Amino acid sequence: MGAMVAANWKMNLPPEGVEAWVGSVVGREESEDVLVVVAPPFPFLTQLAHLGGGAISVAAQNLSEHEAGAYTGEVSAGMLDRAGCSHVIVGHSERRQIYGEGDELVGRKLRAAASAGLVPIFCIGETKELRDGGGTRGLLERQIGTALRVAGTVDGLVVAYEPVWAIGTGDNATPEQVGETHAQIRDLLTPFGLADVILLYGGSVKPDNAAELAAVEGVDGFLVGGASLTSESFKAIWQAMVSSRA
Ligand code: PEP
Repeated sequence: MGAMVAANWKMNLPPEGVEAWVGSVVGREESEDVLVVVAPPFPFLTQLAHLGGGAISVAAQNLSEHEAGAYTGEVSAGMLDRAGCSHVIVGHSERRQIYGEGDELVGRKLRAAASAGLVPIFCIGETKELRDGGGTRGLLERQIGTALRVAGTVDGLVVAYEPVWAIGTGDNATPEQVGETHAQIRDLLTPFGLADVILLYGGSVKPDNAAELAAVEGVDGFLVGGASLTSESFKAIWQAMVSSRA
């Protein structure tokens, strides 16, 4: 099974600069074992694709569910493809929470991505209240079931388990929580013929917790926010993933 470490820069750029970041990351031998994906803000997609020269894959952080038309401020899957993207993040919790994206819209976006040949990185995960109240599995079942029924077949789908309470908080899920929840997610994906998808963990992954999280059964990589902004910490996380597969 493949593995991946994906950088989500959100609405930020690396303090060292895009060019220096890419120069520091590309050309390392690990790249063949664990795919490196970078999701910069929209205006930097083409630059990333150019600088990465194929050694890194480029992802958008969002897309429209529509192909073209009067949708001011939106960007279609076909446009992302032309900009050099191979992947796109869909259903990130910040899109769900700040911009009100629901499961059906997420499903339509998965379908739009797939129809343009982009690989969606489909994000799911529970809030603290749901985890504390025992509602995690029910929520994941709804997020997966609703979106995938709307989306239909999505070739090469990547799923990212990102508990909302762990994103940007410094408070990562424990290896036990990740192992247990990844097993539940694979179980929920099985009826859709997707038991073998690349399944990432995201939520406060850092150089000092990456090795123990990478060692968890069923973790095929990471989606990394804050710690992806400097090339040194991103490379350390990537290296931890590579070492766990050696
Ligand atoms: C994310 O935004 O997908 C994420 C996991 O962020 P962070 O690593 O900062 O928690």
